Amino acid sequence: MTRTPVLFVSHGAPPVALETGGLADALAAFAAGVGRPRAILVVSAHWTSRRELGVTSAPRHRLVYDFGGFPEALYAIEWPAPGAPDLAARVVALLSGAGLPARLDPARGLDHGAWIPLRLAWPAADVPVVEIALPDADAATLLRMGAAVAPLRDEGVLLVASGGVVHNLGRVRFGLEGTPDAWAVRFDAWTRDRVAALDADGLARWREEAPDALLAQPTPEHFAPLLVALGARRPGDRPETVFEGIRYGNLSMRSFALRPGGDPAAQTRSPS
Ligand code: ZN
Repeated sequence: MTRTPVLFVSHGAPPVALETGGLADALAAFAAGVGRPRAILVVSAHWTSRRELGVTSAPRHRLVYDFGGFPEALYAIEWPAPGAPDLAARVVALLSGAGLPARLDPARGLDHGAWIPLRLAWPAADVPVVEIALPDADAATLLRMGAAVAPLRDEGVLLVASGGVVHNLGRVRFGLEGTPDAWAVRFDAWTRDRVAALDADGLARWREEAPDALLAQPTPEHFAPLLVALGARRPGDRPETVFEGIRYGNLSMRSFALRPGGDPAAQTRSPS
């Protein structure tokens, strides 16, 4: 089976769910290029845990409208993606085996960080989805989480990590586009360059080394999924920009894929 790519998406603000063009077109094009995965494993900034990691195991998902103050039409969106209880059980085993205690959660639905980009990419809701809670933990743990689930890439499971490369809602100027703030551009470019180099160790030191880090990410949960994505990289993966741009003055929409290299034999020989 062909190895699947890894997708990191900056999900922006909820109204992106109602927009056309931009991220919506980019995600649709990405999905069309990938074909239909066996299942999607998603981790989002909007479900964090300091304890055992929940893994959704419902046979069909409900959506969680975990945002307020946005257009009514957003709360009417439905996207009844099937779950994958068997995959959820395997994910619990993989995480536990990597020293990340996890448990099945049959009651949890998909938060907006998960369903908004997935629905834009796969609107038919016909691909099974499992969501994992994001550990509220250090960078090494986030990388280890990605590595723990990376074997699923060789079983047709597509990993989607959803967060935001620059995310400071206290600074966002909704409704205004215009020239982006210099600090947001700097942090976005720093991240872009390290992703291009697949420099997971450098990205792990983002708080110490990235310019304007605490302005770009006053809390770490929107950057954390990016480290999970990098943790799932395999030898031969090539980074590819899926979408980029800064909205509302400083909200980065940078999204990228890690695509397997062209030699399937080399992939199956990869030791790690
Ligand atoms: Zn978010």
